Amino acid sequence: AKADGRGCFRFFEPEMDADVRQQREFEFQLREAMVRQEFELHFQPIVELATFRPCAVEALVRWRHPERGLVPPDKFIPVAEEIGLIIPLGEWILDAACRVAAAWPSHIRLAVNLSAVQFRSGNLVEVVRGAIAASGLTPNRLELEITESVLLQKDQGTLAVLHELAALGVHIVLDDFGTGYSSLSYLQLFPFSKIKIDRSFVSELSSRSDCAAIVCTVMNLAKALDMTTTAEGVETWDQVALLRAAGCSEAQGWLFGRPGFASALSLDRALGPPP
Ligand code: C2E
Ligand code: CA
Ligand code: CA
Ligand code: CA
Repeated sequence: AKADGRGCFRFFEPEMDADVRQQREFEFQLREAMVRQEFELHFQPIVELATFRPCAVEALVRWRHPERGLVPPDKFIPVAEEIGLIIPLGEWILDAACRVAAAWPSHIRLAVNLSAVQFRSGNLVEVVRGAIAASGLTPNRLELEITESVLLQKDQGTLAVLHELAALGVHIVLDDFGTGYSSLSYLQLFPFSKIKIDRSFVSELSSRSDCAAIVCTVMNLAKALDMTTTAEGVETWDQVALLRAAGCSEAQGWLFGRPGFASALSLDRALGPPP
C-alpha cells in the first residue's frame, strides 16, 4: 500500500494492473477504430401499428473489430463516452445515417441516438444542422432519441440545446421510457414528440398484468400530452394485440425486423400481420 498524496492509501494488486492495462488497450483500439473506419451503421424498421407499414428506421452503431467480430454498442459506447470519442463518433453517425436516409421514401423518418456527452460538447446544434444540410434530409424526417440521462443535469444548457434542436424542425424523442428515475417530471420539462416505452415492459406484457397496466397508463399519458408512442422490443403477435388495444402508435422489434444493413431494409410494404 502506498500513500496517494491525498491522505488515502491505494492498493496495487497484480490483477488490478492487468485490468487497467486491458482497459487502456481497449481504449486505444477504440480510438484506432475511428481512424480505421471500423464503425458501421445497422438499421431497424419501426412500423405504424395501424397498418404495419414502416414509418421510421432507427440507426444503431456497431464496431466491426478485426478479431472480435461485430461488437455491440453496449460494449463500447460507455467507453467512447468516457474518453470523449463519442463526440467525433456521434458526428460520424449523424452524418452517415442522414446520408443513407435521404434516399428513402420521404414518409420514412430516421431515428438517431444521442449521448448525454454530446449535449455537453458545445456544438451539437451545429453538428445536427450540418448533417441535415449535407444530406439534404428534411429536418422533420429526423428524430433524435435521448434518454433521461441527458436530462439528469437539469441545467439551462441542456434545455436550451433541446429547444434549439427542436427549432431546427427535428423531433426530440424520449428513449427507454420507464427505466430511469422520476420519468414523469421529465415529460414536463420538454415537449417531446414521442416516447419510446422500454423493452422491459413490452417483453412481460403478456405474462404480467402489472406491465400491461403500466403500458396502458403510459399510452394514456402520452395521448393526453399529445405525444406519439413507440413500443420497443416487440417479439410476438400477442404483444402486438395488447399494444394496439392499449392505443400504442408504433412498434419496433425482431417481429418486424432485426437491425441489419440499409440495403436489406424493405420500406415499401406492410410487415404483417401473419396470414
Ligand atoms: P436503444 O436505443 O434502446 O436501442 C434498442 C436496442 O434494442 C438495440 O440494441 C436493438 O438491437 C435492440 N432490439 C430491437 N428490437 C429488439 C427485440 O425485439 N428484442 C430484443 N431483445 N432486442 C431488440 P443495440 O443495437 O445493441 O443497441 C443498444 C443500445 O446502444 C441502444 O439502445 C442505445 O442506447 C445504444 N446505441 C446504439 N446505437 C447508438 C448510437 O448510434 N449512438 C449512441 N449514443 N448510442 C447508441
Ligand atoms: Ca434508441
Ligand atoms: Ca430504447
Ligand atoms: Ca435501451
